[in-house]
Amino acid sequence: MRRTWGPAPCYPNIFNRKFAAPGKTIVIAGPCSVEGEEQIAKIVPVLKDCGVTFARGGVFRAGTYPRDNFGLQETILKQWAFAVREAGLRTIVEVIDIREIDKIEPYADAFQVGARHCQDYALLRELSWSHKTVTLKRGMGMTLDEFLGAAEYLTRGRCTPILIERGSATHMNHVRWDLSVSLIAAVKGMTGIPILVDASHGTGRRDLVLPMTLAGIAAGADGFLIEVHPDPDNSLSDADQAWPLEGLKTVMDRVEAVKRAR
Ligand code: PEP
Ligand code: MN
Repeated sequence: MRRTWGPAPCYPNIFNRKFAAPGKTIVIAGPCSVEGEEQIAKIVPVLKDCGVTFARGGVFRAGTYPRDNFGLQETILKQWAFAVREAGLRTIVEVIDIREIDKIEPYADAFQVGARHCQDYALLRELSWSHKTVTLKRGMGMTLDEFLGAAEYLTRGRCTPILIERGSATHMNHVRWDLSVSLIAAVKGMTGIPILVDASHGTGRRDLVLPMTLAGIAAGADGFLIEVHPDPDNSLSDADQAWPLEGLKTVMDRVEAVKRAR
């Protein structure tokens, strides 16, 4: 990376060929927040029919504003993991606190590090020693160089890393965060580590989720993350960007069509 000051970029493992993307599209789908058994019962069968790679359900999640339902988290996590695994799928669970890894680990087939924790290097270092997949979302103010530097903390361990582009803070006011499609193409040119497009957070707008998912795939993304909900308008968090659950298959089909064309 061209730069005239500061430390030289140092991420030798980013170029390591052992971190290769699978040919198959990686799909991470599920609700922003797991809301209870009724919602779980509606969502999991659809995720199963669609054959998603990881069923995401926000439980220990970091949001912009604090919420009060934290006491319920462990019960909800267990219910979610039970239903997802019964369906033959794998869970992905966000970890926001290094002290909670052991508590979450039995229910997580993969770990998510959210945008707000992308530079929590102690957390990254600890998760890197897991044998599981760890997804890393780019922080909303981070450059490509900083993102790869953070990713290097994961590649030094044993985990299987996956990168996720989820948009930056921006002066543009037609979106909540602004997805960087060019970053996806740039990452693809530098490393074999898979990168996914998250147009749910990367736009904050339901009407932009499909086109920007496809844009990310066209730029080379190895898959996508999408927040789905059976009743999007009444989603308890991120309702504005919630994609209707019954429309997940359409997104997956359109993604495959774009992949064939690229
Ligand atoms: C999420 O995926 O649930 C989430 C909170 O995303 P981000 O870390 O990108 O804000
Ligand atoms: Mn969300």
